[in-house]
Amino acid sequence: MNNYMEITKEIIEKIHKKLNEVSPVNYDCGRLCGEICCTYDDETYSNNDLIIYLLPGEEALYDSSESFELIHYDINEINYPHSWKNGVYTVRCINPPTCEREIRPIQCRTFPLIPHIDKNNHFYLIFDESEYPYKCPLINKNIELNEDFINETYKAWRFLLKNRLIYDLVDMDSRKRENKKIKYKKIK
Ligand code: SF4
Ligand code: SF4
Repeated sequence: MNNYMEITKEIIEKIHKKLNEVSPVNYDCGRLCGEICCTYDDETYSNNDLIIYLLPGEEALYDSSESFELIHYDINEINYPHSWKNGVYTVRCINPPTCEREIRPIQCRTFPLIPHIDKNNHFYLIFDESEYPYKCPLINKNIELNEDFINETYKAWRFLLKNRLIYDLVDMDSRKRENKKIKYKKIK
């Protein structure tokens, strides 16, 4: 599972294309919660700004976007695996929930599913309520997600895990979850 595949802009665009064909449910789930995952605001969370951590390679899409501000953090500013020695790029959504959907980050496209690797190196998609500072009704009310969304999200993350940095990050988050004995629900 773990090798050194580079993630290029072309790879990101191919993943976007596949994920464009699916969505978590067949209605606008933002109506259930006032689009809280786009607009959540709290001084303990990102200095009042909604920022999304990008996967390596994704930053190439945001050079000239008017909807996203690209921000870079050095490795010593963030709690990330050592392999991320060049730091991490994030985007700040400039006018959420208005969104330039064609280039929204993969973390956003696959939400609310989260990649998880168990101690036997098995990969799953899970719901983890503890991951976010707000309540997503899809998780909270255990709403059934579209099967094609689950399947495409599964394929996308399984492929992305071939990148060393992404694997290390998912592994780090998974170990934290397991060590803290956080309850999560396996979806696939
Ligand atoms: S994914 Fe969850 S938090 Fe985001 S808009 Fe849908 S229901 Fe709300
Ligand atoms: S990228 Fe778009 S969908 Fe994702 S949080 Fe920002 S505004 Fe919302």
